[in-house]
Amino acid sequence: MDILDLKARDIRDKIINREITATEVVEAYIKHIEEKDKDINAFITVDKEGARSQGARIDEKIKNGEELGRLAGIPIGIKDNIVTKDMVTTCGSKMLKDYVSPYDATVVEIIKKEDGIIIGKTNMDEFAMGSSTETSYFGASKNPLDMKKVPGGSSGGSAAAVASNQVAIALGSDTGGSVRQPANFCGVVGLKPTYGRISRYGLVPLANTLDQIGVIAKDTEDAALMLSILSGYDEKDPTSVSMDLNLNLESTEVDIKKIRIGIPKELFDIEIENQVKDNFFKTIELIKENGGMVEEVSLPNLKYALETYLLISNAEASANLARFDGLRLGFRAEDYETLDELYIKSRTEAFGEEVKRRIMLGTYILREDHAEDYYMQALKVRTLIRNDFEKAFENVDILLSPTSPTLPFNLGDKIENPVDMYKGDLFTVPVNLAGLCAMNLPLFNGDRLPIGIQIIGNKFGEEDIINLGLAIEGMVK
Ligand code: GLN
Repeated sequence: MDILDLKARDIRDKIINREITATEVVEAYIKHIEEKDKDINAFITVDKEGARSQGARIDEKIKNGEELGRLAGIPIGIKDNIVTKDMVTTCGSKMLKDYVSPYDATVVEIIKKEDGIIIGKTNMDEFAMGSSTETSYFGASKNPLDMKKVPGGSSGGSAAAVASNQVAIALGSDTGGSVRQPANFCGVVGLKPTYGRISRYGLVPLANTLDQIGVIAKDTEDAALMLSILSGYDEKDPTSVSMDLNLNLESTEVDIKKIRIGIPKELFDIEIENQVKDNFFKTIELIKENGGMVEEVSLPNLKYALETYLLISNAEASANLARFDGLRLGFRAEDYETLDELYIKSRTEAFGEEVKRRIMLGTYILREDHAEDYYMQALKVRTLIRNDFEKAFENVDILLSPTSPTLPFNLGDKIENPVDMYKGDLFTVPVNLAGLCAMNLPLFNGDRLPIGIQIIGNKFGEEDIINLGLAIEGMVK
């Protein structure tokens, strides 16, 4: 048995059953990270000492016969825009390269309480802006399945860490696809819950009305386990809600005939790489062969989703990033004479190109004489997109689409062409605009790079996406 190959839940079970110790788990992972991460660069910070002392504490608890938490001994990676008080939280930016939060995010608090082992903070596009992890101040991460390729982004470090067994499970954040797309590129499961399902307290915001913390895992069952632990109302996040999850993790046998599946017909107007298309149709065939019911639905406003997303997310991002002024927190330029110069130099020196581009766009969109034309229009289209989904979900439980229109691309290929990069988010952003839940399920493409499908559920319909994920995993086993 190789500890590194175990699923998160199996690590916990084997520790509780005393087949392995938490210390053995921690040492195996640390050794592996020391060997692997020089090349992959999935981590910004690795906390070996913290992980070791947490491992020792768990072993001590076992010796004393104390009860263990639901994540006991599981090595976990946290995206570096989720604050932790024992480690720096950089957001992949020079702006926060030395920033240590005085408090833990709610999800981090929960993981600690449940005896999870936080092994490090994972690399990401700067302030979660990007789809390749190449905008990180700490250098790009690489795709463990093919080191010439990007791992996706912005949670590329989390996806690469799970795919290369450097953690058993990881957290990411998803504003327009940043959990699902890197999961797709690295061949792992990426689950973005419904807006409000998991507390965002302690997540450094990109665009508050779109952001959601999500889970990157080796399979659906591990993702469901983490989701069930992290979900729930948190008084520190007034947008969080308490809604039943109804997950039955005891039985993973799912009757696919009970799940009504819809395919948006507008998908086929979109340019999709052939291999992605073929794989998508093969999956639909497989579902039908196994008795699944698939019907066509319509999302007529899908074609406006990307522009709507860019307007809203950039407007919100520019407002959020205003707090980094060189005074209150983060980087401060050394050489300035006036207050204006302090602001300008600190922001000029510490933000990267993509962040500056979005601040400028967002500020432009929000200008008093423009807001009516751009921002207010975008909000109206957002409502139309939301209504489309609401209507579609009157007849089906699930919608299916590819997760990304292309396979993973080469490092360096798109970084000079932001619009090309944005186009890769076409299938993921509508889900955030409508506040739905969705999951990337990896389907391997022979011995080539993985191609995932996106399983979209209605608001608080996580049970449906998890059930379909389990069912498809059962079919391809
Ligand atoms: N790739 C998208 C963007 O660049 C999504 C980012 C995200 O979800 N954080 O905006």
